[in-house]
Amino acid sequence: KTRVYRFGNKTADGNSKMKNLLGGKGANLAEMSALGIPVPPGFTITTEVCTEYNQLGKDAIIELVKEEVEQSIANIETQMGSVFGDKENPLLISVRSGARVSMPGMMDTVLNLGLNDEVVIGLAKRTNNEQFAWDSYRRFIQMYGGVVMGMKPESKDDIDPFEEIMEHLKHKRGIQLDTEFTVQDLKDLVYDFKDTIKKRTGKDFPTDPWEQLWGAIMAVFNSWNGDRAVYYRNMHGYPADWGTAVNVQAMVYGNMGDNSGTGVCFTRDAGTGENVFNGEYLINAQGEDVVAGVRTPQQITKLGSQRWAKLAKIEEDDRLENYPSLEELMPSIFNELNEYQDILEKHYRDMQDMEFTIQDGKLWILQTRNGKRTGAATVKIAMDLLKEGMINEKEALLLIEPNKLDELLHPIFDPTALKRSNVIAQGLPASPGAATGRIVFFADEAKKYKHSILVRIETSPEDLEGMNIAKGILTARGGMTSHAAVVARGMGKCCVSGAGALNINYKTRTLTVGDHVFHDGDWISLNGTTGNVIEGKVATMEPELSGEFAELMTLAEKYGEIKVRTNADTPKDAKIARAFGAQGIGLTRTEHMFFEVDRIKAMREMILANTIKGRKHALDELLPMQRVDFEGIFEAMQGQSVTIRLLDPPLHEFVPHQLATQKELAEDMHISLQAVKNKVAELEEFNPMLGHRGCRLGNTYPEITEMQTRAIIEAALNLKERGIVCKPEIMIPLVGTVKEFEMQSEIIRDTANKIFEERDDTIEFLVGTMIEVPRAALVADLIAEKADFFSFGTNDLTQMTFGYSRDDASKFLPIYIEKGILKVDPFEVIDQEGVGQLIKLGTQRGRATKPNLKVGICGEHGGEPSSVEFCYNTGMDYVSCSPYRVPIARLVSAQAAI
Ligand code: ADP
Ligand code: MG
Ligand code: MG
Repeated sequence: KTRVYRFGNKTADGNSKMKNLLGGKGANLAEMSALGIPVPPGFTITTEVCTEYNQLGKDAIIELVKEEVEQSIANIETQMGSVFGDKENPLLISVRSGARVSMPGMMDTVLNLGLNDEVVIGLAKRTNNEQFAWDSYRRFIQMYGGVVMGMKPESKDDIDPFEEIMEHLKHKRGIQLDTEFTVQDLKDLVYDFKDTIKKRTGKDFPTDPWEQLWGAIMAVFNSWNGDRAVYYRNMHGYPADWGTAVNVQAMVYGNMGDNSGTGVCFTRDAGTGENVFNGEYLINAQGEDVVAGVRTPQQITKLGSQRWAKLAKIEEDDRLENYPSLEELMPSIFNELNEYQDILEKHYRDMQDMEFTIQDGKLWILQTRNGKRTGAATVKIAMDLLKEGMINEKEALLLIEPNKLDELLHPIFDPTALKRSNVIAQGLPASPGAATGRIVFFADEAKKYKHSILVRIETSPEDLEGMNIAKGILTARGGMTSHAAVVARGMGKCCVSGAGALNINYKTRTLTVGDHVFHDGDWISLNGTTGNVIEGKVATMEPELSGEFAELMTLAEKYGEIKVRTNADTPKDAKIARAFGAQGIGLTRTEHMFFEVDRIKAMREMILANTIKGRKHALDELLPMQRVDFEGIFEAMQGQSVTIRLLDPPLHEFVPHQLATQKELAEDMHISLQAVKNKVAELEEFNPMLGHRGCRLGNTYPEITEMQTRAIIEAALNLKERGIVCKPEIMIPLVGTVKEFEMQSEIIRDTANKIFEERDDTIEFLVGTMIEVPRAALVADLIAEKADFFSFGTNDLTQMTFGYSRDDASKFLPIYIEKGILKVDPFEVIDQEGVGQLIKLGTQRGRATKPNLKVGICGEHGGEPSSVEFCYNTGMDYVSCSPYRVPIARLVSAQAAI
């Protein structure tokens, strides 16, 4: 079995299709090399070795791969004309992680490996550049110390131990930038770094390059199981057994002086999707310098540089002198880079995110991958690539991750509120959107407030979890490719980065802008589209959906097979859903209509009545109110099917539980307080979710079913008179036996016939049931004899199949997921293994009796991508989900059918 794959010098053992084995980075390095793009030579140790390492441990792994690694290093030596560990002509290497999907910054990388006290002298002589050699050495000790030897900050408001030493020296020397260190400074730093490592770990810094190499390889494997990576994996549901590959590669040096540099670029705008090449770079810098925000990065293109200067309020002269674009500073390097970005985008047929380094006037490409992007950019890029003929319609649909659409549907700032607001600072528009929240300064405190804005000098991969929880992210340092910006765009989270006017103090937990001081808990707002930082709360409004989004939805319509309906209880929701393209309503919950002030009174009177007569009296009051609701909903849906569920929740949810409201009710109804109290006590249940609810209500109080049927049918007839078609589908909840269904269905049909006679007019309607009690799925063949349609109520079905109370599951589900007992929350994602069987079986048995039985789903799962796909595969006619999930379900519907 091959465990090591080589690349470099326009050839490669692997290619971009081998991501599972070589990781994304390794596979793309191989592909680029074969394409003839200049990639420093190197090799990839496969992800399988990572898994072997987890089973067998370090020594066994070295044994397994030693020969291949040694030969591959020799191969790099030949290509580079230098020797690993040599004191005169040394080869330095980087050791990089790379899982099959890109997890930016989640795992570890070590640069400049192979240096020690003797090699550094050789490197200095050979390159005739002492500054560069010692800068590389101090960087190596810093990275190796952190990654392999565990030299991390001791507490969260501490800075990195090496940064602290550097800050101290800068202060002493009165300098600002890393590039201002003298050779002697760098030598002192190296000495201090090693000393600190020895003091804290008790270990000497390893001098043998091979020992360094094996240490770094194992550290990369270990980083797959580090906290950051594990959190990221869990967030995306990536399994632990994927492992990471290790890429070992010849170093190219961006820190050799003013003719060198390093940068990051995107073939299109990752925020808006605009088709403009863009990116950032730094002269005389290495590795993550651009991303980490140690200096203000410069723009790649002239246009980008001008746009940036305008935001940063920098004059043209100042810009040209201090922050020229790569296009202006090194035109031929820029042209070459521009050529590669074009080649790579066309080759991968998707927006690329690339890393490059310029070593003494020569360009090297170090990485390419499909770039992370916002929801808006996702849609625009897919539609643009389609128009440019780079991809076809199906590919365009498949290019979009459905959940990304969610962001587009989120609120934006209300323009009038925005005009009145007070802008306190200007940063870069790193990730678009509108965010309002209360300031927190530490990622692990993001959950402190319901709406929080994470405010940091800069973010690091450790902050991922908090960034995910916060509504928005604000940083004082870092550019458009900084960690905060890249991660925020990937999450679709609003972010303003590099707002230089902010003064952040972690110790006092304050944010100072001019003479204005903000504290932890104060409200601020971020406009990720303009980069504005705004004082206080700003009102938001619904976004407008047009252009590319509408084009995408039309395309989804063309390929989608399973229909998408919506869950809507009000005409307003129904209208929103229709605007998003819903093809009917799959669930209207009638009980929500009872909670309005005057209605709840009538409802309570109904519940408290001791006689049928009293109940009917109260129901007569409710009838016209329900009828109006249904008329509104039918009208909003303009002839599309509307499924209405009869009363479902236990009655105790409607009665007052507080003394004051109980008194009020007693007075209103002219009965004693005690009578009210008695009734409330009577309705008390040990387990209301399994109690007197659903069709059990309608079967014990048939007059409720009668009233609701009357409201539905009369509403439909009224609309018919106005020339509006409507197709009611009356749905009986919580059926477990055929008899339960039959009794309800009989009441519904009798009531309808009575109304038809009264009005001397008829309409067509269906009577069906929810399948949400496991027994109903099992006897679906019998129920289908009587029912016109099935709708799987997967919330209750999941609750009853697992025996997990939905209202109590939050106590143990998170722990279950953490411990791996469950992979995901079954109330979010359909449990295909268990609950899924009941859905399949119920559908099959139902259709065995009635081949064209209409089947759908109306639980929360109806808008969750993997669940929608499951429903399609089960052969359902439709899914139904909340209005804002409709576009997502429509896209999945198309993707599933492709
Ligand atoms: P990540 O996966 O977190 O992006 P990388 O492995 O890409 O980590 O490496 C971190 C940084 O080091 C990147 O900026 C990369 O370009 C740089 N780098 C990696 N290998 C080399 C190399 N051989 N020569 C120069 N720079 C390198
Ligand atoms: Mg990288
Ligand atoms: Mg239910």
